[in-house]
Amino acid sequence: MPQVAFFNIPAYGHTNPTLPVVAELVQRGQQVTYYSKQEFRQAIEQTGATFHQFRDVPVSNVTGHDGNLIRFARTLLEVTQDAIPALLPALSADPPDYIIHDSLCPWGAYLARLLDVPAICSVTTFALSTQLPLSMPLLERELLRTAAGSMADLARFHALASELKRSYHIPRPRLRDVFANHEPLNIVYTSRSFQPSGDTFDDSYKFVGPSISARPDAPDFPFDALGDQSILYISLGTVFNQQPHFYRLCFDAFSSLDRHVVMSVGSKIDLAALGSPPSNFILRPYVPQLQLMQQSALFVTHGGMNSVNEALYYGVPLVVIPQGADQRWVAERVQTLGAGQVVGQERLDAAKLRRAVEEVLSTPSYREASERIGASLREAGRYCRAADEIQEYVRRCRKQQG
Ligand code: UDP
Repeated sequence: MPQVAFFNIPAYGHTNPTLPVVAELVQRGQQVTYYSKQEFRQAIEQTGATFHQFRDVPVSNVTGHDGNLIRFARTLLEVTQDAIPALLPALSADPPDYIIHDSLCPWGAYLARLLDVPAICSVTTFALSTQLPLSMPLLERELLRTAAGSMADLARFHALASELKRSYHIPRPRLRDVFANHEPLNIVYTSRSFQPSGDTFDDSYKFVGPSISARPDAPDFPFDALGDQSILYISLGTVFNQQPHFYRLCFDAFSSLDRHVVMSVGSKIDLAALGSPPSNFILRPYVPQLQLMQQSALFVTHGGMNSVNEALYYGVPLVVIPQGADQRWVAERVQTLGAGQVVGQERLDAAKLRRAVEEVLSTPSYREASERIGASLREAGRYCRAADEIQEYVRRCRKQQG
């Protein structure tokens, strides 16, 4: 039975799309060991994979509102420096047949090289490639934005990169490489047409679309209370969601809307401290997003790649309020393709947000554009195609090894 090691960062946005792929690989007889944080144990075990506790990668500390990518790059190399000696001895004694790693897990990429096994990159953001200049300005802009205030992080990054090269005789990682990790096979969870400059990526990038499938870990939700009418759904995702001020602003903006508003506010918000929500609101720390999307007239989102892909998959138009990380890029792409409007969070007020929502709701072209992109996402093949591509690639590698 082929053995697979899967390395990911402990973030819903990076984990959720991989779970149906892992379940499919397990169904096909592969034995997957998934390295992550305890919080994801149940969801991972439900796929049939073996969970392996891995040290925390403090994703939310480094992707907060300042969206400091240089600090994040430094953290990723620190994790890499700890992870290799912690994992290499056991993996060397019983090597996996291949490794799948998230594009933000340099340790997965390096372990694959040190073990000399095939590696596959799992890309839950837009794909980036240092070899494709057209894909890089987005990243360059973010790095430049934070460079001046991050000299100490940058110096630490370079010191770590040199240490890694010296210790393991691996190519010295450059800042851009950490975000543009790629392998001979890259599974990207969007469609080629939603990916900016999608046609410039070669065939090693397989755009399989979002992994839409039943989520066994989806929480209960009072769907009966919604009736048949389409809703306004609001979520800032799972990382950038500690924003009581924004949630109260939504109360003001939508208390008189003649439809239900469902708002996912995250587990760290004190619901009582938010005050009483208007009677047309339902608030929850975490909601069954895929089911709610199917009943949504519009989605107000932070622009997380998964949330946006999921909305487009169901043809839901968007109002995007990017907070950090890659969300500005995703928001720009939504606006460029006409599937929604972008609203800056600076000087945002209830009237501005309400205006954007009303305009998108009353202009059919937004929904039509979302439906067009949705068709490309639905045709991309999803997790079954991802599993096909992975198995085919591993077969090719085996053949080449003779
Ligand atoms: N999600 C969910 N219920 C919620 C909030 C989020 O199921 O109440 C899921 C959502 O479907 C998506 C993921 O969590 O798959 C969030 O990922 P995204 O990339 O959109 O944002 P992030 O949380 O990484 O900022």
